[in-house]
Amino acid sequence: MAISFVGQVPEDERDDWIKRLSDLLPGETIRAFEDLSEADKHEIEIAVVANPEPAKLEALPNLKWIHSVWAGVERMMAELSHLDVPIVRLVDPELSRVMGEAVLAWTYYLQRDMPKYRDGQKNKAWIQHAYKYPWEVNVTLLGLGALGMEAARRLKEAGFQVNGWSRNLKEIDGISCHCGTDGLTEVLGKTDILVSLLPLTAQTRGLLSKERLSQLKSGANLINFARGPIIVDEDLIMLLDTGHIAHAVLDVFAVEPLPETDPYWSHPSVTVLPHISAPSDINSASSIVADNIASYRKTGEVPGAVDRSSGY
Ligand code: NAP
Repeated sequence: MAISFVGQVPEDERDDWIKRLSDLLPGETIRAFEDLSEADKHEIEIAVVANPEPAKLEALPNLKWIHSVWAGVERMMAELSHLDVPIVRLVDPELSRVMGEAVLAWTYYLQRDMPKYRDGQKNKAWIQHAYKYPWEVNVTLLGLGALGMEAARRLKEAGFQVNGWSRNLKEIDGISCHCGTDGLTEVLGKTDILVSLLPLTAQTRGLLSKERLSQLKSGANLINFARGPIIVDEDLIMLLDTGHIAHAVLDVFAVEPLPETDPYWSHPSVTVLPHISAPSDINSASSIVADNIASYRKTGEVPGAVDRSSGY
């Protein structure tokens, strides 16, 4: 039984994935979906995917499971809800390291008032802002999963006050943990920098609305490295305009690439990033995917699929 790579990625990137996986799994035949004949499609048991078109996966009648080379699988969960095939997402310590680094970097950007100094330079204004020690800054992570936990660890190590919010209450040394709606209200009230690392689910879509964002301390900052629709954009823009939120660093958007007409591009209190906070690393990701496939061949068990009922 063969494996197919199915994805909307440039051809050279697709071929790179296939070459690396073939090198790591010498006993397997791995083919691009585009190269499969109708008869071949019946042979495919595992699809390795990167942003796949649903119709292509539907065209594989004997598909047993899908391995995404990305960590976020929310779009697939929505588009493939009718397909009774387990989806395995990428959980990669290297991806967590890169996200932890991004969270720390952009937290420093806000703690050290870089947006204000950028504006100062634009206006040729020599204004010195008071230094804030990291331990005077409360950073809250929404989501304490594979990425949020590592970000929390890096922030703690750097001396910040770290809070976390997750679906199930956690106990983590040195981190103030919260859960539930009351827990969110409580933690937002003490937050200087809010970092979203939640998956996009029915519960988290639109979570950061006017009501929730207004519960942040006045002058708080926001970093969204998760998914765009977790934020209600009009509400965020309104709170940036009033100054209740001082600055937002946004890496993810409801529509990507961000349309030229989007108000975020030119908003003075927004830093727009083109979804680069933690790209999958083909080196580490291909060996994790290969290990998962090898383990499946050995045991017949699909390794850790996403829970369809919780949506992540
Ligand atoms: P994960 O391991 O599944 O962790 C998700 C976390 O969110 C868990 O702590 C979970 O709580 C919490 N959570 C889920 N639903 C919740 C709810 N309704 N209320 C409160 N907490 C909730 O996911 P991950 O690997 O850390 O990735 C998180 C997201 O990052 C991905 O889904 C993806 O959208 C995004 N991402 C972005 C980039 C980028 O470049 N910008 C790259 C990779 C991933 P429990 O611990 O209690 O289950």
